[in-house]
Amino acid sequence: MGKLSTDSLKPVQKPRKCPKCGKIYYGYPALSREDNKTEVCPVCGIEEALLAYLRQ
Ligand SMILES: [Zn+2]
Repeated sequence: MGKLSTDSLKPVQKPRKCPKCGKIYYGYPALSREDNKTEVCPVCGIEEALLAYLRQ
């Protein structure tokens, strides 16, 4: 198992940029319901889930 030596003490949480709201977030992304492959922030994920629910 090869390790990257830089900052090995930090938890491996890369900052991600949400393509929907443009915010930087950490942690696990949510899959956009629009195409099922775009990774959005959890907030947008919840928002999309709510919108999908409301559209029913
Ligand atoms: Zn977002």
